[in-house]
Amino acid sequence: MTQSVQSERGLTGMGRILAVTNQKGGVGKTTTSVNLAASLAETGRRVLLVDLDAQGNATMGSGVNKYEVTLTGYDLLMGHVDIRSAILKADAAGYDLLPGNADLTAAEVELMTRDDRERRLRASLSYVQNDYDLVMIDCPPSLNMLTINALAAAHGVLIPIQCEYYALEGLSALLDTVERVRAAVNPELQIEGLLRTMYDARNRLAGEVSVQLHEHFGNKVYRTIIPRNVRLAEAPSHGLPALRYDKSSRGASAYLALAGEFIRREAEEAQRREQERAAHGEHSTTQTSHA
Ligand code: ATP
Ligand code: MG
Repeated sequence: MTQSVQSERGLTGMGRILAVTNQKGGVGKTTTSVNLAASLAETGRRVLLVDLDAQGNATMGSGVNKYEVTLTGYDLLMGHVDIRSAILKADAAGYDLLPGNADLTAAEVELMTRDDRERRLRASLSYVQNDYDLVMIDCPPSLNMLTINALAAAHGVLIPIQCEYYALEGLSALLDTVERVRAAVNPELQIEGLLRTMYDARNRLAGEVSVQLHEHFGNKVYRTIIPRNVRLAEAPSHGLPALRYDKSSRGASAYLALAGEFIRREAEEAQRREQERAAHGEHSTTQTSHA
């Protein structure tokens, strides 16, 4: 199974898996996961959001009560259940959700003694990834075994960066981890993009961090900037993505713009791959992406 999925996923551009990660806490991982998932779902994409954080914030922010769910990523990683039985429809948010809650803390510990502990999420997702255009994984604020599982499963890493003091501190540890996972488990893994979050243009530091990011990462830095916006902070307490809570807010607009940029980049990437294949004289079996 893994083998055929491996080859398919490179070709079709379907079932792309994205890990939203940064081991720094409170930088906007969950806000980005929920709002980008909702914005892509709004454009008609089929999206699965995986909450891989024991805090369960992405679950609550998707309108699902983390205290009431019976099956989570924990059951999946432990091999207790088939992934399809753990996936819920987060109707208020517009996408499917694999919920997370405090049970995931146990998964982190129990995984340490299991075989193939880095590849368990990847193996589970392989059964459903082609049911979706995009699978997004909201990671915990740590480079623990849950994050490693997300990186081992992903095609791309989306790194939210809060443009304040020490924003870049810890980034090299994250990049080292990405490199190690690429070498050991997942050669397809790429840095998808760096996203500036909670941006305050009046803050001089924000501009300086922005410049540094461009110096180090060039066009991997998304052009879209997520501003600091109170609606983005309020929406989770209503169990809604910002675009369902206040579509006219700057926060909701910014994530819709990010979805647009994301789709454009995907289309460009698909085109580039197509040209590469044509140059190698391969027969194309590609379905065009929706973009
Ligand atoms: P953790 O590391 O704990 O998982 P995180 O990286 O997932 O945190 P979030 O939970 O998304 O970060 O955001 C941290 C806090 O900042 C939350 O209260 C969230 O509502 C708020 N927040 C996130 N993005 C914005 C924004 N653009 N404007 C205003 N508030 C924001
Ligand atoms: Mg979070």
